Amino acid sequence: MRLRNVKGSRETIAVSEFVVQDEKSMKGKWKEKFGNDNPINIEIGMGKGRFIMDLARLNPDINYVGVEKFSSVLVRAIEKQTEEKLPNLCFIRMEAENIEDVFEKEEVDYIYLNFSDPWPKDRHAKRRLTSVQFLKRYENILAKDGGITFKTDNRPLFDFSLEQIKEADWIIDNHTFDLHNSQYVEGNIMTEYEEKFSKMGNPICRVVCHPKR
Ligand code: SAH
Repeated sequence: MRLRNVKGSRETIAVSEFVVQDEKSMKGKWKEKFGNDNPINIEIGMGKGRFIMDLARLNPDINYVGVEKFSSVLVRAIEKQTEEKLPNLCFIRMEAENIEDVFEKEEVDYIYLNFSDPWPKDRHAKRRLTSVQFLKRYENILAKDGGITFKTDNRPLFDFSLEQIKEADWIIDNHTFDLHNSQYVEGNIMTEYEEKFSKMGNPICRVVCHPKR
């Protein structure tokens, strides 16, 4: 996501009731935080939060946690949530690499990855959110019947991801190289990037997968 330094964003985040400030202390306690037994779904790299807010509105019986590392985009999601106050949604500002410090084994029911940074250089492959290294982290926090949906318009990143999913010994439930012209389009919730890139004519790739059980 292109970054502008949004003035005061760190301060806004530090006092926001919609941001979990001490996320590591929540490990194993997310159900308590939401005050119910509903499933917990997360989006990693949620940007300005349009997708996760749409989901939270549509599915009041699912709890959503949006993870974003940059204050300047997270603050936009906070602004929207401050108006809407969806009870089943909160945010964390953190680097996704540390996700296992924040969620206990099997604590997360589903993970969404949308338009993750491509990290095009080979030597940065480990930083891609769909690398084997990240898939192992997700496997450690996902519930037994949990899984992942990943969307991107970046074909090299998508091809890499399909390979990594196989290398991690995960199962691919389905995938498409052109989501908007596929059987899977019904019920698709667009992300900010998805709208932007599909308007430019880029086909959207999507894979649904889960660890072997
Ligand atoms: N999901 C949104 C934004 C996509 S841009 C959409 O589809 O519209 C990718 C976002 O992921 C950026 O906001 C970036 O800051 C965030 N991000 C990338 N790597 C991350 C990481 N390792 N940990 C947390 N957030 C990350």
